[in-house]
Amino acid sequence: MRKRKVILLGATGSIGTSTVKVAETIPDRMEIAGMAAYRNAGKLAETANRLRPEALCLVDPSGAGKLRSALKYNPLIFTGEEGLIDIATLPGADLVLVAISGTAGLRPALAAIDCGKDLAIASKEILVMAGETVMNRARKKGVLILPVDSEHNAIFQCLEGKKGHQISSLILTASGGPFRQLPVEKLQNVTKSDALKHPTWKMGQKITIDSATLFNKGLEMIEASRLFDVPMGKVQVVIHPQSLVHSMVEFVDGSILAQLSHSDMCFPIQYAVTWPERVPNSLQPLRLAEIRQLEFEEPRYDAFPALHLARTAGEAGGVLPAVLNAANEEAVQAFLDDRIRFPEIWRLVRNAMEHQTNLAEPDLDDIVRADCEAREFVRRALA
Ligand code: NDP
Repeated sequence: MRKRKVILLGATGSIGTSTVKVAETIPDRMEIAGMAAYRNAGKLAETANRLRPEALCLVDPSGAGKLRSALKYNPLIFTGEEGLIDIATLPGADLVLVAISGTAGLRPALAAIDCGKDLAIASKEILVMAGETVMNRARKKGVLILPVDSEHNAIFQCLEGKKGHQISSLILTASGGPFRQLPVEKLQNVTKSDALKHPTWKMGQKITIDSATLFNKGLEMIEASRLFDVPMGKVQVVIHPQSLVHSMVEFVDGSILAQLSHSDMCFPIQYAVTWPERVPNSLQPLRLAEIRQLEFEEPRYDAFPALHLARTAGEAGGVLPAVLNAANEEAVQAFLDDRIRFPEIWRLVRNAMEHQTNLAEPDLDDIVRADCEAREFVRRALA
């Protein structure tokens, strides 16, 4: 029986909290050896006092004093962006779970791969931005990339290692978000609090807004293509309001395999950590007889342009996925700051993509530059 020693990046967030819950449920299979957060020293200290990881990282150094004084033991403490790399490469740990919102997890993830550690990735942004770089480096190093995102974890379970020519399509399910049935003209007036009411999942703010615009699904289309090395043309989306079927794979023989469970991120997190084994837990099992309906419908592509934009970016490749991701992050922040209306998010992303000259086979510096330029483009457009 294998016990994973895990470094958890993004420990104070929604995925981080669920990961801690999983670690506390299966202590014989999972030990948290390190935890990192950006600035929430209080929550980091409180969790660390329970789990006693040997190292912590708080990226914002101004909170280090508060962290130290709240701790009841003496772990190694790193700070700053370099500190994230230090903790991601901590000797003795064998799996790094990346659950940082946005793209700040990219460099620590690459550093962990270079040290031969397996990665469990929740941060879809880094696979969208630099999926080819991450996957190529992991292949060269012979390390595993285990998907935590529920859709990709579902596909990973359905595929069981089957590749390319046997796959007809990867079918990502989407709840449709809070505006699934809202007439298109009303999208202009939706508020931040409307957009933050996700019908089936409780998540961080950025991903919740992305679920309302369907950019979350768009990012996941690119993520799926990169993770499973499947062309964008074989990545489909279907709306499934109950969020019980987490995704499906259609094979060339016409069979569709699906993975189902309640909407709780502890399921995919646990499977990523214990893979290839399955172990019991205290999560609520799905009782099929109690589910009255499983519904599926076509997305409203015209009302929610994020899916077309993501398909365009994913098919073009180069730096365009990074531009889509960066422009979206900036636009979502502007919406959360009450500076733009909801449909402006799509418009800003489209404009940033149209403004970008694409590059074939970019290296990491090209990608980071395109990311910065797209952010700058959106900021200028809003100035
Ligand atoms: P949250 O906003 O809840 O948490 C983000 C975490 O990242 C916090 O621990 C935060 O620290 C940390 N963080 C933020 N910025 C930095 C930085 N620059 N450097 C280091 N740490 C940082 O996000 P979620 O947990 O919702 O999402 C995390 C990732 O997982 C995202 O990429 C999301 O798309 C993906 N995901 C989330 C799902 C969910 O159910 N929530 C489902 C599938 C994927 P602090 O608290 O100190 O600010």
